[in-house]
Amino acid sequence: MGLGDDDVESNPLASVPMPNLQTILGGRRLVKGEAPFESERAHVVALDPNLGVEGLPQSATGQATLVTGKNVPQIVGEHYGPKPNKVVAAVIEEANLFKTLIARGYRAALLNAYPARYFEAIGSGRRLYSAIPLALTSAGIPLKTAEDLNRGEAFSVDFTNQGWRDQLGYKDAPLRTPEEAGRRLGEVADSYDLAFFEFWISDYAGHHQDHDGARRILETLDGVLGGLLEIWDEEQGLILITSDHGNMEDLSTRRHTSNDVPAVVIGARPLREKFIAGLTNLSHVTPAILQFYPEKG
Ligand SMILES: [Zn+2]
Repeated sequence: MGLGDDDVESNPLASVPMPNLQTILGGRRLVKGEAPFESERAHVVALDPNLGVEGLPQSATGQATLVTGKNVPQIVGEHYGPKPNKVVAAVIEEANLFKTLIARGYRAALLNAYPARYFEAIGSGRRLYSAIPLALTSAGIPLKTAEDLNRGEAFSVDFTNQGWRDQLGYKDAPLRTPEEAGRRLGEVADSYDLAFFEFWISDYAGHHQDHDGARRILETLDGVLGGLLEIWDEEQGLILITSDHGNMEDLSTRRHTSNDVPAVVIGARPLREKFIAGLTNLSHVTPAILQFYPEKG
């Protein structure tokens, strides 16, 4: 999701009530022209996903940039996606946020759950890793499974597990409200030095120009945020919400957008200020994160 026009016709972020997010943002919305700003509890800065390369930002190169700190579209010569090609994959496998954290002795995880059929498809070569799971697995960090989801250690992309029950056939997946999922997300994240969650259904809704889906997604996301903030210790860690590229903030097109994307940074003010210093494009995110995880002496 990017920072789109403040237009209720095309941009669900301009119209859908998101009381938890708006409280955090001091009543503001995530739309073009608002960033940068700071409130009592958050900073929001605009990040450039275009990175000086022609064409619309794409997922593989955008995500690779987010987790490597390199300008991957420039290395590849184009915005590429959705899955990494050989060049993008090689950049991710060479060095990334998660590999660095593991090498420095920190615990990191991707909190998305993947169904058994995903692992089968990867194993048989029918499916390629997208950039984020590739970064994790190349760091030797296992992806989370249906068993992790059932134990409350991993999360479905809709957070409620309804999709796992209805579409993936996991009839016993525990149903959660978004708020419950958010509280649990905070507990699980607290057991790692860095926890990552990949929320891709907003991109899907954008490609389908699905206004109702977009509304539900934002309502769910706001509920999750509310639950998460209930239990999050803002002195102990930052929450970063960001994106690889815009899409759902402009439902007048089914394509990605060239809009800046938001980096919403929630936590204690000194931590936030340290995080956002010099943060202006996607390639700055990994260095911003890693300054909080020094080599252990
Ligand atoms: Zn997309």
